[in-house]
Amino acid sequence: MPPLKIVKYPNKTLQERSEGVVEVDAEVSLFIDDLVETMRGSTGVGIAAPQVGRLLRIIVVDVTPKNPGHGELVLINPKITAQSGKRKGREGCLSVPGFIANIKRSRKVTVSALDRDGEAVEIEASGFEAVALQHEIDHLDGILFLDHITDMKRDLLKRKPEED
Ligand SMILES: [Zn+2]
Repeated sequence: MPPLKIVKYPNKTLQERSEGVVEVDAEVSLFIDDLVETMRGSTGVGIAAPQVGRLLRIIVVDVTPKNPGHGELVLINPKITAQSGKRKGREGCLSVPGFIANIKRSRKVTVSALDRDGEAVEIEASGFEAVALQHEIDHLDGILFLDHITDMKRDLLKRKPEED
């Protein structure tokens, strides 16, 4: 059983803006462990703190299913500092079970953040990893993938049971 309960749409917490982490202390570290474990216990390739009801700027991304060898990336106070290109691809969200959608995103992003030890890092990502980072960072500003859909009829799709 994942340690934390995932907040589901249309819970209002998902629309709120998260606060920056001031210090990566023991409590924050323990929370990150729980957040990682919660993602591992799900089908998601990423999770953001507000998805478990904590309005803190922390995300975890692990796109190993699409990019073998990726491993887990914990980012604190992540900020997109550069982006380029366009890409449209399918996205789902642990907080919006049962649906996937075609969403337009930047193809490449540069993200600056703190790692789980509180050290400054800069990540350059492209393709699926870039999409996952944009999706999770959006959660910190109260934005869901649903908010990016321009044509519900065309781009919002019911997930097939085997994809859940
Ligand atoms: Zn999501």
